Amino acid sequence: MSIEFDTQWPTQAQRQRGLLEWVKAQPRPCWLTWPGRDPSRHRVVVTLLHGNEPSGLKALWTLMASPPQCAVTSHFCIAHLEAARLDGGFVHRHAPGRPDLNRCFGRAGLGWEYGLAHAIAERIRSLQPEAVVDLHNTSGSGPSFAVSMADTPAHRALASRFTERMLRTQVRLGALMELTTPQTPIVTIECGGAMDPASDEVARAGLLRFLADDPLLDEPRGAWPLEVLHRPVRVQLAPGCRIDYGVGPVDGCDLVLPPDIEQCNFGWLDGGTELGWLGPDGLGALRLSDGLGELAVEQWFVERQGRLCLRQPGKLFMITSNPSIALSDCLFYMVKA
Ligand SMILES: [Zn+2]
Repeated sequence: MSIEFDTQWPTQAQRQRGLLEWVKAQPRPCWLTWPGRDPSRHRVVVTLLHGNEPSGLKALWTLMASPPQCAVTSHFCIAHLEAARLDGGFVHRHAPGRPDLNRCFGRAGLGWEYGLAHAIAERIRSLQPEAVVDLHNTSGSGPSFAVSMADTPAHRALASRFTERMLRTQVRLGALMELTTPQTPIVTIECGGAMDPASDEVARAGLLRFLADDPLLDEPRGAWPLEVLHRPVRVQLAPGCRIDYGVGPVDGCDLVLPPDIEQCNFGWLDGGTELGWLGPDGLGALRLSDGLGELAVEQWFVERQGRLCLRQPGKLFMITSNPSIALSDCLFYMVKA
């Protein structure tokens, strides 16, 4: 399956009509390029792998009015316009009933999404860029962070252009960042919640640094220190279990989390902190994995009088209060102190 990219920047007339109109009229994924001072080197920005995560595209749209001085040839892949334009715009992570595009990298599968992931990966491979960032938003509200498969100076340098914390994960799901190599470091940037205006600014300010800084892969001095969190554990609901959000136990539900659980994002929580309410199966409603294998739930959580509690101090992040994401993806990630 061959995927074609549009390579035309939006015209001034299109820019005046606005981002949403452009997104709705865009028939194909886009691969746009700005020249840089050193044309022999390349950097790549990927965004909109998820159709409801617009901060990267919004930031790029803002920069189009007066393009910055790029250090090297700079490429922008605007990926899942097909999902982004459905139902009023920026509503769907992926088209209903279709694969999640950021679970298709490095994997074989049937469907257009696998073809697009392959085409993006091939373009990156052929350009041999010195760095790739993939800009996302979290589904819940919360601060920005980077996600990386590797903790090297280059990955930390990329992360710190955008944010002050980086998760090093071993969980392999088929995401673009898993294609990172020593020659082409790739990090995911979660700019913060899709609805938070601060997230658009995280993307814009980070993009300006990513495009202009040269050298790029040296850790900036004098900037804020980067906090690196290792081996986050993915917390999912067990198959067939039901979740709800509320302020007490709910009949027929295996887990109830408070609707404001997102406020726990990245805050240190003490051992014993109550997170929610369990059903008759207790801790059996949860599944934990660190990307290498399944972990014993009891090492991380305890049940006290029907409540789900942390066994040890830790941090939670990428918490969702959207039940469909909680069921299809995960509840949250966590690290121990
Ligand atoms: Zn995403």
